[in-house]
Amino acid sequence: MLKEKPGSEIPGDSLFFLCYKTKVSSVLSINSRCTVIIKRHGEEADFCCTLNCSVYFSLNTTNVIDQALEKGRHSKKNKDLEKGLVFIEGSGPTYATSTTFQESIVAAGAGLALVDSVVAASKINKDSPTGFALIRPPGHHAIPQGPMGFCIFGNVAIAARHAQRVHGLKRVFIIDFDVHHGNGTNDAFYDDPDVFFLSFHQDGSYPGTGKFDEVGTGDGEGTTLNLPLPEGSGDTTIRTVFDEVIVPCAQRFKPDIILVSAGYDGHVLDDIASLQLTTGTYYTLASVADTFRALLGDKSLASEFDNPNILNEEPTKKVKQAIQRIKCIHSL
Ligand SMILES: [Zn+2]
Repeated sequence: MLKEKPGSEIPGDSLFFLCYKTKVSSVLSINSRCTVIIKRHGEEADFCCTLNCSVYFSLNTTNVIDQALEKGRHSKKNKDLEKGLVFIEGSGPTYATSTTFQESIVAAGAGLALVDSVVAASKINKDSPTGFALIRPPGHHAIPQGPMGFCIFGNVAIAARHAQRVHGLKRVFIIDFDVHHGNGTNDAFYDDPDVFFLSFHQDGSYPGTGKFDEVGTGDGEGTTLNLPLPEGSGDTTIRTVFDEVIVPCAQRFKPDIILVSAGYDGHVLDDIASLQLTTGTYYTLASVADTFRALLGDKSLASEFDNPNILNEEPTKKVKQAIQRIKCIHSL
């Protein structure tokens, strides 16, 4: 059940009902707005170009539970194991079941199918085509050394390499607007001048990386931009970030394709963190991906999700300082 924010004039139950009503009508209309792509699987080459091949093969077992027992990491009396879960050692909080590997290659395959479709559409359509992949498990915390933070494979990183390797697109721009830092994507391209990684996230959130001075290294210095935002940042903040940071960066980099790690846990109603993004904020961000706008319907529907009574004042002074600092570091 949703919790009320201090000062809210709408009881939690009513708020839940309001959201539920609008969400259901929106979800029901999604099918009529989309072309659904038949699922495909990622292949070995797709994974090995973004992570250590031995990681891929160690995960590629028919039964990770048997593997864990063999290696003596878990005893049969382990409570997690009784539930069919294996903790992936050294991965941050990531568990696997006997089907995790297969599900993860389908998840990564969704990103590849999306890139294939968008590239194919771009050859017959002058307007820049867009698409949307709804993927689980997520990927942006998975590092080249292996799974991390509930992520098995770096889905967007694999899609980026696929765009370059298979479709010959040289320059890839990745925007990550999840409330957490996309450390895995950050690491995968940290020294790569042809992939620009831009993440804004709540300062201090998991996994604690993504500071202002993490800008890339070697040839890739300057093609990683991390903007930690103070808690309480919301719609006004993100509109400013969009206009003064994201757009100038993309215009300067001149990408051949833009990929977005679209996590929605920065929404004001998500208790996992403390940003105040609204559906209207995501509508603004989706101006780089009209497909998401199509899913939301017209803007009036997007605004129906947002109840201004639950929003607190944004930390304007801290936000201004953060944006000035990142503009100075990246000469924007
Ligand atoms: Zn997240």
